[in-house]
Amino acid sequence: MIDFRLTETDKAHLGRTRAEGVICRQYAREFDENESEMIPDVLPEADQFFKDYPELPEVGDDDTQGVVMMLLQCMGQNWGDYSVRLRRSMRGGLGNAALAAAGTEEQKAKFGEMLLSMAITEPGCGSDPSRVSTTAVLDEDTNEWIINGEKIFVTTGIRATGVVMWATIDKAAGRAGIKSFLVEKGTPGFNVPHKEKKLGIRADDTAAYVFTDCRIPRENLLGLDESIPKASSGGFRGVMKTFNMTRPLTAAMGLGIAEAAIDFTRDELEEAGITIDYTAGPGGLGRLSAAAEKFMRLEALFDASKLTTLQCGWLAGKGLPNNLESSICKAHAGSAVRQITQGCIEILGSVGISRELLLEKWMRDSRITDIYEGTGEIQRLIIARGLLDYTRHDLK
Ligand SMILES: Cc1cc2nc3c(=O)[nH]c(=O)nc-3n(C[C@H](O)[C@H](O)[C@H](O)COP(=O)(O)OP(=O)(O)OC[C@H]3O[C@@H](n4cnc5c(N)ncnc54)[C@H](O)[C@@H]3O)c2cc1C
Repeated sequence: MIDFRLTETDKAHLGRTRAEGVICRQYAREFDENESEMIPDVLPEADQFFKDYPELPEVGDDDTQGVVMMLLQCMGQNWGDYSVRLRRSMRGGLGNAALAAAGTEEQKAKFGEMLLSMAITEPGCGSDPSRVSTTAVLDEDTNEWIINGEKIFVTTGIRATGVVMWATIDKAAGRAGIKSFLVEKGTPGFNVPHKEKKLGIRADDTAAYVFTDCRIPRENLLGLDESIPKASSGGFRGVMKTFNMTRPLTAAMGLGIAEAAIDFTRDELEEAGITIDYTAGPGGLGRLSAAAEKFMRLEALFDASKLTTLQCGWLAGKGLPNNLESSICKAHAGSAVRQITQGCIEILGSVGISRELLLEKWMRDSRITDIYEGTGEIQRLIIARGLLDYTRHDLK
């Protein structure tokens, strides 16, 4: 049975994440405005915080664990700030989720401790990843793949110590020829020419990668499956599987920011003497102020989005198929966080756009939720295929 109610132990653990977040927020504006600065891996307050913070209760069988807890923690961290952490985990990259979803046990042991970015997008290939043109050619004499091509908009692309990147091993095979490869930074031929400048999530480093005759060991093919299925797109489906983990994570990141906006707006309303009366009941909405009524609609949107995301994570944790659910939660969150952060600004007016506060930054930061890991439009195409049996051809 699915039950997403939090235990006292869950609340204690998530409470600490939020307490960290409160400290991190004081750095949020600084890194937003100084986009070229890299955030240190450890902030000055870190040691004292972890020394002083009360001991956390041990996690028991009845407490939330696994993928669902990971998503809740992710929301909590992003409630603090999208990019700033007291101590940065070295295992938080999108490539790590890809490794977890599709790597062999040996690959997980070898690369699991690295911070891995994920590079799919190219100058000529975004929403349709089957158009990947970066190539990986096997050199049978040396047992190495030789990689050539260009990747853009790689999240954590500067800090990452390695990357899970997509390349085709056979262009004529189309999508069936696309595979994922693990490439370590420092490998000759793997270069990082620049960092991107962005509307939001500016503290996050987003990079371009260039691979020029970059040689990697044969066993760095993620999942080790070199076969090219003839009549189906089975191989491609294999690499697409990584999105089933990264899409709920992306949704959770956005929802963390949205929750920060909701909490801030609730506090501001209360300070202005506007109470959110949840007991108004059916037909009672008329008793609420327009601001309170609008706020409650935003909260409901948030709850719906959070539940679809947790359900998707619960399926992943059980090893059950979650392809459809990962698109549903990503599409819903992408749209919800935009409506929520903008709605909060509408409710608060000038306070909402003041650079003295963080709400306008949260609106900019949350905008990415609907873009990376597949745009909202692409998720809706996947949902139409999964729910209504449309084919790729029908939806072209
Ligand atoms: C900050 C940031 C970080 C990123 N991080 C990563 C990363 O770590 N790794 C990575 O590989 N990529 C990353 N990306 C790239 C991201 O995944 C792509 O931007 C995204 O997939 C969209 O691709 P595109 O920008 O080329 O847009 P396009 O594919 O050119 O699409 C443009 C518009 O057309 C719409 N569209 C396209 N096809 C259809 C269709 N068939 N039907 C209806 N509408 C359609 C899209 O929804 C979009 O609105 C990142 C991007 C940004 C901005």
